[in-house]
Amino acid sequence: MDDPSSGAEKNKQSFKALGLSEPLLKAVAEQEYARPYPIQWDAIPSILRGKDILGIAKTGSGKTAAFVLPILELFHRTKEATGASPSVLVLVPTRELAAQVAGVFQELSIHLFPKVKTVAVFGGVAINPQMIAVHGADIIVATPGRLLDLLSQRALRLSGVEILVLDEADKMLELGFDEEMSQLFDRLPKKRQTILFSATLGDSIQDINEKWLRLPVRVEAIEEEAPNLELISQLAYKTSLERKGPLLRYLIKTGNMTQVLVFVSSTRTADNLVVKLNKNGIQAAAIHGQKGQSIRTEVLRDFKAGKLTVMIATDLLSRGIDIPLLPYVVNFELPRSPKDYVHRIGRTGRAEAAGKAISLITPDDDHHFYIIQKKMGKRVEQIDAADFDLQGY
Ligand code: AMP
Repeated sequence: MDDPSSGAEKNKQSFKALGLSEPLLKAVAEQEYARPYPIQWDAIPSILRGKDILGIAKTGSGKTAAFVLPILELFHRTKEATGASPSVLVLVPTRELAAQVAGVFQELSIHLFPKVKTVAVFGGVAINPQMIAVHGADIIVATPGRLLDLLSQRALRLSGVEILVLDEADKMLELGFDEEMSQLFDRLPKKRQTILFSATLGDSIQDINEKWLRLPVRVEAIEEEAPNLELISQLAYKTSLERKGPLLRYLIKTGNMTQVLVFVSSTRTADNLVVKLNKNGIQAAAIHGQKGQSIRTEVLRDFKAGKLTVMIATDLLSRGIDIPLLPYVVNFELPRSPKDYVHRIGRTGRAEAAGKAISLITPDDDHHFYIIQKKMGKRVEQIDAADFDLQGY
């Protein structure tokens, strides 16, 4: 029943489609990034094409990897990590963010060769060690004030900067760094790629955009509303792997369910389930990454129109599925992350209508399901389905 390709392999495939090479795919797999976040899908290809970016995204959207990965990919392609002078400058508002962003560069560049050297510089600590550290850096992640200090001490030059990233640009302005930023812009080569990320798009960000960016591609992390868990009644059935299929059919038939969204973790399971459900007289179809867009649209339309009882989906497509009044969501297999669990069950209980979310749990899922409940801050009632008579289902 399980997909023969491992989870890690599948994750790599979707990042690969974005144009990332093996050393980065390996690092991404090690970081256990399940699949690209939407902002990464949107930003990575454009950054690789050398476009300027105006990104509207908050912390938590995956914005950091959205610029770190393509920048590292560009190093990999041109192999120009010469260390003569930094070719990438990332400006950030706070020392914490500087350390954090530099950390992401370091983690994700771990398999690159030649090595890419990333150094974080920020105020509030002695400048001397940083003067030494910046030597030979390919990527500098800096708060504006300390960077200007280092420049005035001639600890580094910015003449080789090809890519400038302004991370949390709105916060930099809020903290009063506009003067420092202007001074820095004046010292940077005019011919460069500029990537700006900001949580908001106010007038001052628009000013920067107009002054310093060239025909930027605009990318935006759409914030999804957190589902109202109070509207969703959650239930879990404890069962075995072998009884999952019959149990699902039993629940659908005895519960007279007419519109059920079933989540699985692999395309193989999705396709198998479709065959079994149809064989048992339950109208079902699957949407997943290996189905073409027109088929997905058609399945979704049929499901919405009530022509299909069951739609089976992988997480890849769970975002954006918006069906008003969807009464049932079933986790045939649990998602890896608690966030995805909430996201999945949030497909029901929308628009102030109560919905039901059912998870099928095997003994192997026990611990993971415990973690999911803990993260969600809500306990889910569990029913032992061992005694259910599934004959004929
Ligand atoms: P950020 O918005 O950049 O602060 O990232 C938020 C968190 O999401 C960080 O902990 C990242 O490690 C994590 N993250 C970024 N991209 C992914 C991804 N594709 N899959 C899973 N986690 C990710």
